[in-house]
Amino acid sequence: MESFREPSIQAAADPPPEDRALRPQRMSEMVGQRAVYERLSIAIDAARKRGESLGHILLDGPPGLGKTTFATCIPRELGTSLQIASGAALAAPKDLLPYLTNASEGSVLFIDEIHRLPIAVEEFLYPAMEDFRIDITLGDGVAARTINMPLRPFTLVGATTRAGLISAPLRDRFVIREHLDYYSPAELAEIVRRSAVKLDMPMDDISADEIARRSRGTPRLANNRLRWIRDYSTSRAEGTMDIGVARSALEMQGIDELGLDGFDRKYLETIQRVFGGGPVGIEAIAHTMSSAADTLEDDVEPFLLRCELVIRTPRGRRITAKGEEHLGAAPRTGGQTRLF
Ligand code: ADP
Repeated sequence: MESFREPSIQAAADPPPEDRALRPQRMSEMVGQRAVYERLSIAIDAARKRGESLGHILLDGPPGLGKTTFATCIPRELGTSLQIASGAALAAPKDLLPYLTNASEGSVLFIDEIHRLPIAVEEFLYPAMEDFRIDITLGDGVAARTINMPLRPFTLVGATTRAGLISAPLRDRFVIREHLDYYSPAELAEIVRRSAVKLDMPMDDISADEIARRSRGTPRLANNRLRWIRDYSTSRAEGTMDIGVARSALEMQGIDELGLDGFDRKYLETIQRVFGGGPVGIEAIAHTMSSAADTLEDDVEPFLLRCELVIRTPRGRRITAKGEEHLGAAPRTGGQTRLF
């Protein structure tokens, strides 16, 4: 019998307790992403059987699809400990040093938003990933000496919403690279049903399907919508739950048939109304919306691109005829063919 040790989790910022309550604790409890699950399970099983540390893993995909969940489940499967860091908070090699020296044999170091690591930190990480060694330079100029310090073999799990921003040398040091894609409505409905049980909330299949359909293929949004519906039901419907309650709650939040919220629609409207449908650069859209280009690129655009409500052209973003139709405006003739 292998002993299972609860991973010690050092989170930079602890998620709210309810988020923790809904997050699957084991990989087998995760819904969907079956191909990723199968491949990771094989790698984990092989590492355990050989008593070796698991190869470094890079997970990429839009926010809220399960990168952190996989990263927190992996050490549980391995029966090892977990440390959590964020690329944005690791400003210099010295910030990474305690994580590397604290890593016990076979443990997991999870770096979220790994594309935000400054180049000096990234270069410091290379020998740590490849040879489990760090090179520390002491002193300056001619008196400078480099000390090699061995590390215990560990597994780095990196997560990013921007795989394209990861440099080739860093990317190549990950043995396993997995892309997480949006969930199907059926998978999301299953997540909604399971979360409703955990939140002790009644849930019929029609309502679960409706919440799933309006959650942009994203488990985090499905859970957020569910929590809001629970609040709405408690406050306005004496705790009852049916399709009518679910629809009224979602409409009150401005979530439409496709699952877009007010911010998504504002993005589409900005392109259509202010920039005549585009093409327009992301910075110009962000300025007009008083938002950050990063937020739009990470949180808003991936789903709208996937739904073909906007397209990216070499000269910027364009709204499509489908996008205009969604806003309730008549599509301009030839709007979709005038790509460039
Ligand atoms: P990411 O790190 O990709 O932004 P998370 O792993 O934090 O996303 O997932 C957000 C939330 O969505 C989690 O708290 C969890 O409750 C839920 N979730 C994500 N993936 C799954 C899944 N495959 N099955 C069930 N719930 C999931």
